[in-house]
Amino acid sequence: MLNIVIFGAPGSGKGTQSERIVEKYGLNHISTGEVLRGEIAAGTELGATAQRLIDKGQLIPDELMISILASKLDSLTSGNGVIFDGFPRTVAQAEALELLLERRHMKAVLLDMFVEEDEVIKRLLNRGKTSGRADDNYETIKKRLQVYQAETKPVCTYYLHRHNYFAINGNYSMEDTFCQIDNILRLI
Ligand code: ADP
Repeated sequence: MLNIVIFGAPGSGKGTQSERIVEKYGLNHISTGEVLRGEIAAGTELGATAQRLIDKGQLIPDELMISILASKLDSLTSGNGVIFDGFPRTVAQAEALELLLERRHMKAVLLDMFVEEDEVIKRLLNRGKTSGRADDNYETIKKRLQVYQAETKPVCTYYLHRHNYFAINGNYSMEDTFCQIDNILRLI
């Protein structure tokens, strides 16, 4: 069974590529960013907590995020694999995901989408014009990129050591980026 962690900086195209992968491979898609924005829109307590942190470009605490992810996994009805988009974002989350999958006799591969920082900033500023996302402004983007380097990037090494790591050059067009992903997914 195919389980994928789609990984990369904010603005690296995780959401876009996830859609393409879902379309071709029929996987379940769990986007933690979307889950949180859903909670914010619904006006829940969790949403209020998330909003405060997201607006500052910070991460939601691991414990909270892990329990959200676990219940999302439990609620899936289709037996197909899962594409994890936005999770894990810390090594602690990577450890938790490994355990959650192990219990289900599964594992995941990580696709690391590398995009130059200037390009990522350009994309996010552009997205901010239409997304209505309060975190797509220059100051918050800078903060998110710092958090990404410090807390999220080490997740790559975690997968590298487990031989479940694949690098993708995300600087190319959407099509060409998907081509690289597709070539890898056909082989595993
Ligand atoms: P992007 O990849 O553009 O930063 P996301 O939609 O994946 O956007 O996430 C938006 C925000 O939600 C993040 O900046 C972070 O504050 C929060 N978030 C999402 N997923 C996680 C996670 N796994 N752990 C902690 N915080 C998260």
